[in-house]
Amino acid sequence: MVFLLNTDFNYLQSLNCISFWRLTFVTMNEYFTAVFSKKNLNETRTSCIKCGECCRRNGPALHRDDLYLISEKILDRNRMILLRRGEPVMDNVFNRPQLLNEELIKIRARKSGTWTCFFLDQSNLCSIHNKRPRECRLLECWNPEQLINYYQTDRITRQDLIVSGSAMEELITVHEQRCSVLEIARLLKEEIEDPGKNAGKMNAMLAFDRSFREEFAKKTGTDESELLYYFGRPLGELLRPLSVFLKKNPQDFLLAD
Ligand code: SF4
Repeated sequence: MVFLLNTDFNYLQSLNCISFWRLTFVTMNEYFTAVFSKKNLNETRTSCIKCGECCRRNGPALHRDDLYLISEKILDRNRMILLRRGEPVMDNVFNRPQLLNEELIKIRARKSGTWTCFFLDQSNLCSIHNKRPRECRLLECWNPEQLINYYQTDRITRQDLIVSGSAMEELITVHEQRCSVLEIARLLKEEIEDPGKNAGKMNAMLAFDRSFREEFAKKTGTDESELLYYFGRPLGELLRPLSVFLKKNPQDFLLAD
């Protein structure tokens, strides 16, 4: 399915807020852009030299082949992060920013604001090497074809992990309806063009997202890292890098600190 209107995407991209687009990456990042475009391809290499470069550049997205890692509890919820439909990401294979047309789940970074995969240990080695996800197994930086052919197939979503008809499914549905990334991006575009037009609606969405997360955490005992798995990043955090474009009182918007 073709998702976001290109015009919307081009408009946001034309704002040239690079940091916004650099927030997330579908696979692993610029290193792979260079590798995949063969600008930097080390054709003399024939095996992994354990430099850890790929793991420092972002964790993998998860696919159906990786579901056993979750059922066997090798991957806990607080080691994963959800990227929602409509979030801007960089597709490193084709070296282009895009908006996700389907949600995906990936291994999160060890530290907020960095890219190093959670499982890269201090000795520069993968701490789950024998059980590493499929993308990691397929990536050979000297021979990227296998990963290129695979990385967009059979990615998992929350539907693969929650019980159909459960209260959790209902909560996710409500959150998506009230806090859609696509919808807030549309409101933001209009707000930038016509300051004040959507401030009330945007703040209502931001406030709902914030209180929904707080309430969910309180009722279930879920910590912040698990919230990233269930509901992705807060809307305020997603919008914050673009607040410089809000001409009318940006400080009045309920953006994350
Ligand atoms: S799971 Fe292991 S191999 Fe894969 S990116 Fe993380 S540290 Fe690297």
